[in-house]
Amino acid sequence: MERIMTNRLDRGFERYSREFEDAALRVLRSGYYILGKECESFEEEFAAFTGTKYCAGTGNGLDALTLACRAVGIEKGDEVIVQGNTFIASVMGISIAGGTPVFAEPDKYYGIDPVSLEEHITKKTRAVMAVHLYGQPCDMGEIVRICKKHGLKLIEDCAQSHGAVFGNDKKITGSFGDIGCFSFYPSKNIGAFGDAGACVSNNEEYIKRIKMLRNYGSAVRYHNEEVGINSRLDEMQAALLKVRLSHADEMKEERQRAAVFYDENIDNKFIVKPEHRQDAEHVYHQYVIRCKKRDELQMYLKDKGIDTIIHYPIPPHLSGAYAYLGYKKGDLPISESFADEVLSIPMYTGITKEEQETVVKALNGFV
Ligand SMILES: *Cc1c(COP(=O)(O)O)cnc(C)c1O
Repeated sequence: MERIMTNRLDRGFERYSREFEDAALRVLRSGYYILGKECESFEEEFAAFTGTKYCAGTGNGLDALTLACRAVGIEKGDEVIVQGNTFIASVMGISIAGGTPVFAEPDKYYGIDPVSLEEHITKKTRAVMAVHLYGQPCDMGEIVRICKKHGLKLIEDCAQSHGAVFGNDKKITGSFGDIGCFSFYPSKNIGAFGDAGACVSNNEEYIKRIKMLRNYGSAVRYHNEEVGINSRLDEMQAALLKVRLSHADEMKEERQRAAVFYDENIDNKFIVKPEHRQDAEHVYHQYVIRCKKRDELQMYLKDKGIDTIIHYPIPPHLSGAYAYLGYKKGDLPISESFADEVLSIPMYTGITKEEQETVVKALNGFV
């Protein structure tokens, strides 16, 4: 049998290949490749998709996070609280903007734990970055309340949570805070065919500022008001993303059905399955299990022709990049134990029942 890989981007393309090809040719023939009408219409459609008013496309997710931090006014010395189990790009968004990352612990759903978050607030705290890790929304009711109470800005890292919903009024992640930041890296739920990202907000000033910063700090050509960067969403990616966006609901439902299959069929006392918030909709960017013998489990699956990935093996506070912050092993025991135990099993657009059955059978046979 063919190896089961952690992702199959080819299947995501094949399913809608005619539409992608038409969109690509339309852009190639248009003679217009950067900051044109494809980007503008994608921005409109994506704002609507997230239930926000404004959107700025960016070159990637890291830049979306960095520019969002700059737009809400993060400056040198400002502390921004983020969960310790996130992908390091969340943290880099803060530090590249000049802020100081402060790590809080995650809750059992892998989102930032509101209790730990509140404990880490100091006089220097300016903002919170809530990461909807693996596709499950953070506890946004509590987080919004804490941010309001302490006068903090709230940035959401939605790189893994396109279309995920929280609360009774079914609000979409990215619309709770001051700015929602997205990555459209090819493997994300809504993926481009290259690098791409976006910021969404109900605050027009923030999005105007991000549009200026993404284009060398100029709103009017050659009038550079501040030192910006070059991080634009190109016409090709925007056109291809519009195709993905038009199928976002069916792709989300497919992942959710695949997750139900794993939930109902994985049965092994050594394996902890993901817990789901009652008041939220998980979009399963990853289906993440935990196991005390994680490395053995990963090797065992590999021998059975099943690839898995660890998201993430080294928590940012213990990485070389953030050694300067002075954290040591043991400072964030929950984040650290997740790093030792988590394992992401195959989950992607186009995953087959047979592939899932093979994965389940292998997992249930692990002793
Ligand atoms: C992918 C990802 C990013 C970074 O996005 P890029 O487009 O790769 O720069 C940031 N945060 C999280 C949680 C991610 O998964």
